[in-house]
Amino acid sequence: MNFSLSRSPKAPPPRRRALRWTGLVAGLAAMTTGLLTPLSSAMAQEAPLSLIRDTEIEAILHEDADPVFIAAGLDPKAVQIHIVGDNELNAFVAGGQNLFLNTGLIVKTKNPNQLIGVIAHETGHMAGGHLARSDQGGKQALATFLFTLGLAAVAAVAGSPDAAGALLYSSDYFATLTILGYTRTQEASADQAAVTYLERAHISSRGLVEFFDNFRYEEVFSGARRYPFFQSHPLTSERIEALRVRASQQSNYGEVDTPLAQAKHDVMVAKLKAFTNLPQQTFVDFPESDTGFPARYARAIAYYRDLQTERALKLTDALLTEHPNDPYIWELKGQILFEIGRPKEAEPAHRRSVELKPDAPLLRMNLGQALLSEYDPKKLDEAITEIRRSLDVEADNPYGWLLLSQAYDRKGMGGMARLAAAEQEFALGQAVEAKTFAMRARHQLPKNSPEWRRATDIVLVSKPSKDDLRALAREGSVDDPVRR
Ligand SMILES: [Zn+2]
Repeated sequence: MNFSLSRSPKAPPPRRRALRWTGLVAGLAAMTTGLLTPLSSAMAQEAPLSLIRDTEIEAILHEDADPVFIAAGLDPKAVQIHIVGDNELNAFVAGGQNLFLNTGLIVKTKNPNQLIGVIAHETGHMAGGHLARSDQGGKQALATFLFTLGLAAVAAVAGSPDAAGALLYSSDYFATLTILGYTRTQEASADQAAVTYLERAHISSRGLVEFFDNFRYEEVFSGARRYPFFQSHPLTSERIEALRVRASQQSNYGEVDTPLAQAKHDVMVAKLKAFTNLPQQTFVDFPESDTGFPARYARAIAYYRDLQTERALKLTDALLTEHPNDPYIWELKGQILFEIGRPKEAEPAHRRSVELKPDAPLLRMNLGQALLSEYDPKKLDEAITEIRRSLDVEADNPYGWLLLSQAYDRKGMGGMARLAAAEQEFALGQAVEAKTFAMRARHQLPKNSPEWRRATDIVLVSKPSKDDLRALAREGSVDDPVRR
């Protein structure tokens, strides 16, 4: 899991810390210093948004959600599911086909059916384009929000001691988003759409009714609107009744989750709890007396986060004895070893996870990162290959480009390193920086090579100035003012 705890917005700009850690070329550090201005006090009030990347959880969520997306006429590959590391109960859609699910919501669903119900409701908002209609001002904020999502990604890679290799996306617009409420009409329409999609996908909509019921009860009982989700999705008794009536009339109302789906849900919840709660809480939630797979998985994570490394490894190895072909337990073992500074031992664990799930880009990136961190010149080429293969699938992953630029620098391939840095900035939506690195890459790459052309393309799509265009016209034959 690539995971980061929310960072205090009052902390100094993390980017510089990350850069120290990554040991990037001084040029990048000099360029980026000063780009991040101190947060205003108003901005500092708002919590940053941290997104969690985890191959196993993303796979489970897609298995849950894809039938619903298909039933709604959406292409499941086009819908991005983002996991927000936040214990508040919330879910929202943004920027077209982006579904954001808080960890706090996922862990409060008791079974896949409840989670799928909530996803179906959000899909109803997505397919209905409700956000765009609800607030034009919000739409503007959203564009900036999504841009900002990328902005802090690199900042995240290592600043937190809790999360080497983490990706943190931070946004000052998150608060703006969460206060955007839907109208009662939109809520009713999303509920109805949810039931339609679920029925079409042969899934019961009972879970959605149950989920709303549980929290309606809590809200009435506590006399407060406690959950952000129900601030943006106003919940009334009439609404639940209307939903219940329609849901219970569906032919699939009696369908239940398969034992396998439930088992995966339990693993997902245990893993999320173990990564987001304090280890001591995990030891309470999953006591030694609980010998089930999710509980032992959670305890292995908690021991690792509690720096009880040997216990974590012992438990992980025991899980691997039972499940030698589980790529995610191998990934966990690799992560534990990597993060305590044993990349040589992390390498075979990550390698096994890649063998077991070769199409997962983040697993390849783990392997590439471990290889790179061994500081063994003989392993550089393989590190580059693995990182590149990861980027072939996820070209917009700035962390992958960051690793790649380090790897090329290590090999003394300056032009390729600058090009990777340009790609990294490009993925972050930072046109000025992308252009500057691309210009430098052009000076160092063989003219007319595919990489040189790619660097040229990046310059051309990154708002080039007249001087830049003149420099391009000279095709790098004379010294350029940007050259260092
Ligand atoms: Zn809603």
